[in-house]
Amino acid sequence: MSWTCERCKRQNSDDRYSCHKCNNFNPHANPAHVRNLDWKCPSCGISNGGNFRTCYKCQKKRPA
Ligand SMILES: [Zn+2]
Ligand SMILES: [Zn+2]
Repeated sequence: MSWTCERCKRQNSDDRYSCHKCNNFNPHANPAHVRNLDWKCPSCGISNGGNFRTCYKCQKKRPA
């Protein structure tokens, strides 16, 4: 499943709660997932939403 960003029309995979391109929020996101805490990527230091399984910047897997 995927969703289309209302702002830039980019297709995003379902596990993203914000748009890969413009960071617009996913209108179909499960609020329970959105409430998940952000996590910081140990590789590049960027902050990712709690619903992301991999770092959006360097694609590193979220540490357990
Ligand atoms: Zn977008
Ligand atoms: Zn990273």
